[in-house]
Amino acid sequence: MAVVNKVVIVGAGLAGATTAQALRTEGFEGTITLVGGEKHYPYIRPPLSKDFLAGRADEQSLLPYTPAEYADKQIELVLDETVESIDRASCQVTLARGGVLDYERLLLATGASPRTLSVPDATLPGVEYLRTLEDSQRLRASLGHSVGLCPRRVVLAGSGWIGMEVAATARTLGAEVTVLGREKVPLEAAIGRELGAVFMQRHEEAGVSFHTDTTVVGITESNGRAAGFITDTGQELPADVIVAAVGVTPNTALAEAAGLTIQNGILTDQSMRTSDPNIYAVGDVANAYHPFTGRHQRSEHWANAINSGRVAARAMLGQAAVLDNIPYFYTDQFDLSMEYCGYASLARNAKLILRGDPSSRKFIAFWVTPVSSSRGRVVAGMNVNVWDVQDDFKSLITTARAVEMEQLSDPDTPLSDLT
Ligand code: FAD
Repeated sequence: MAVVNKVVIVGAGLAGATTAQALRTEGFEGTITLVGGEKHYPYIRPPLSKDFLAGRADEQSLLPYTPAEYADKQIELVLDETVESIDRASCQVTLARGGVLDYERLLLATGASPRTLSVPDATLPGVEYLRTLEDSQRLRASLGHSVGLCPRRVVLAGSGWIGMEVAATARTLGAEVTVLGREKVPLEAAIGRELGAVFMQRHEEAGVSFHTDTTVVGITESNGRAAGFITDTGQELPADVIVAAVGVTPNTALAEAAGLTIQNGILTDQSMRTSDPNIYAVGDVANAYHPFTGRHQRSEHWANAINSGRVAARAMLGQAAVLDNIPYFYTDQFDLSMEYCGYASLARNAKLILRGDPSSRKFIAFWVTPVSSSRGRVVAGMNVNVWDVQDDFKSLITTARAVEMEQLSDPDTPLSDLT
């Protein structure tokens, strides 16, 4: 393989930043240019719906790397700049403000954008979407008025992870919160009805109201601003703060215009290589082949941004590197802290085994593919307010050992005995 001297990275989020840093860790001595559409140094997004939104974390704490870590490693940051097009024949990208950059390897780390509600007036001022630091600051400012005798009325469309996290934070800040969700139970698509109910009950206990099995069909307006949601049952829910958290779509336009293969994101092999051998894709935008499941999967999680970035860095330098990490994510809502690792695509048809009582809010859930009436293989695991078990989960999943389901559910059987 020819020696690589020039790497251009499009997208200065966690995945792009991790790849740039990892290239240096791997000994790459050529030029690295990291072009980012936002004006900030690369930052992490999970606190934007949690501690940063609550005002408990500052901007500094969002940085995965300090400005000095880019300067010391001679990573050139071109911020507040957008790559407009890719010319694959000449290996060049064009910048929105003018100018071109040559590359020998190009990394696309363009992330994802919030899906807008598919109702009229979905982009009316006052409909908040949450992806960027500014979105979180704006939302925080509008929630800020809740402190005092007159709580702000917050209505959220979307009962997935981000919707539920924002609901918990807003309620903690004193707002009156209502969540509208299409599913019968929040988080149902991610962790099923029984476990979604655990999160719902905790929210209800804190005073959050839910309208489940409900679709938003319209937005009411007052003085040119959104003033509430209209549901499919004809109900109008007036609000001071209106948030739509209905998922994200991968930012594939640049790759698509360049003729790369797109399929629920930018399609890559297990080394994050796209259909063009000089172009790689990582993070939320990449739909990577996973050797364990034998399927492509796009992961919209923090750990994947890091893991895929490290793999791409090695692969771009010609090393053997495969994204075989088990997908992982976490959430914090009120006093429920949870970690999940595993293969959601396999968990969908698996059997749920609980260790501990979910009503105690301290428990473990396993998703198991049965191999007999008593034994099965763990394909995913979730720990709620229980710690230091992720290594055991990973070992159970990776080895694919058939284990007694009764032992999985028995809190007196150490997990390490099963791995
Ligand atoms: P992004 O973070 O989206 O970064 C992509 C960057 O590319 C953006 O800055 C964008 O402006 C830039 N860009 C796009 N196109 C161009 C272009 N043409 N030119 C230049 N720049 C461009 N994950 C978890 O695991 N746990 C959590 O608790 C969790 N909480 C979250 C809470 C919120 C509010 C959000 C929004 C996300 C959360 N996530 C969480 C998901 C996690 O943050 C993402 O998986 C992660 O940010 C993906 O990183 P990325 O670098 O791939 O994409």
